[in-house]
Amino acid sequence: MLKRYKASGKIGPYGLLAPVVAAIPSALIGGLYGYAQIALPGPWFLCAVVLLVAFLLLITVMGWTIKAVNCRNRRVAVAAGFAGGVAAWGAAWIVFTSTAGTGRRWDPAAALVLLADPVRLVRAIIALAAGGWAKTADHSLITMRLAWGAEALLLWAGGRAVTGTLFDGEVFCELCETWARLKKGISDRPMPDDKDPVALLDHGGVRALVDATQGPADPPYLRFTVRSCPVCNQLHTLSLTRVRVTHDRNGSANTTTHDLVDNVLITSCDVGLLAAADQGQPPHMESAA
Ligand SMILES: [Zn+2]
Repeated sequence: MLKRYKASGKIGPYGLLAPVVAAIPSALIGGLYGYAQIALPGPWFLCAVVLLVAFLLLITVMGWTIKAVNCRNRRVAVAAGFAGGVAAWGAAWIVFTSTAGTGRRWDPAAALVLLADPVRLVRAIIALAAGGWAKTADHSLITMRLAWGAEALLLWAGGRAVTGTLFDGEVFCELCETWARLKKGISDRPMPDDKDPVALLDHGGVRALVDATQGPADPPYLRFTVRSCPVCNQLHTLSLTRVRVTHDRNGSANTTTHDLVDNVLITSCDVGLLAAADQGQPPHMESAA
C-alpha cells in the first residue's frame, strides 16, 4: 500500500496571525493598484491588465506570508485569503477616491479620513458609481459598474479561492517545523512499457520503478518530483507526473501534464536510488519501500 503524506492541519503558534500578516502587503498592493488606475491613461483593457497583474502579485505575496507563519490549516489560509482580498479592495478604493476627486494628486489626509470612516468610503464609492468620473466619460455607466463589480468579485472571492489551494502538494515536516523543499537533480524518466507506474511503485517500490524506466526520457515521459525536509533529511515524498508533448500545425510544442500520484512517502534510500539512477550508475541500494 502506498503511504501518502497528509497535512496535519495544524495552525502553529503564529498561524492565527496569517489573516493580519496577509492583509498588510495586500493593502499595499491594493493601494498601488488603485493609484495605477488613475495614473495610467488608457482604455479599459489596460485597466483589466493592471487588475490581473495586481491579483497575481496579491496571491503570490499572500502565499509567501501564509507560508512564512507556518500555517498549514486550510480554513485559516482561506480566512487569510479573504482578509487579504478585502484589504486590497478597500485600499484600492481609498486611494482611488482620495485621488480621483483631486485630479492626479493623491491626498493622504483624505485617505486617512476614509480609512477611519468606512461608511464615508462606501458613500464615496456609491457617488462615483452613480455619476462616473472623468476617465469614464467615453463609456457607459453600466460598463463601469460591471467592471467595478468584476473587480470586487475577483478580489473578494479570488484571493479566498486561491489561498485554500496553496498547500496542495506542499509538505511540512512536523518534527522540524519547516516546509520540505524540492530536491534538485532528480531527472525525468521514460514511461514504463505497458505498465502503470503507480502500480509499479505500489508493488515494487522505487527500485521497481527505476528498473522499469531506463533509457532516454522521450515524450511522453515521467516527471519525478521529490520533496525533502532540509533540516532532518528524513522526511521525503515522491510525486509522479505524466508529461505529453504535442505539436500543432505551426510546429510549436504544447506540453500537457497529468498528475499520477502526489506525495507518496519514500525513504532516504529511495532518494539515493533516484539520484544514483540519474547519474547513470546502476542502482545498488536496497529500496526499503
Ligand atoms: Zn524534518
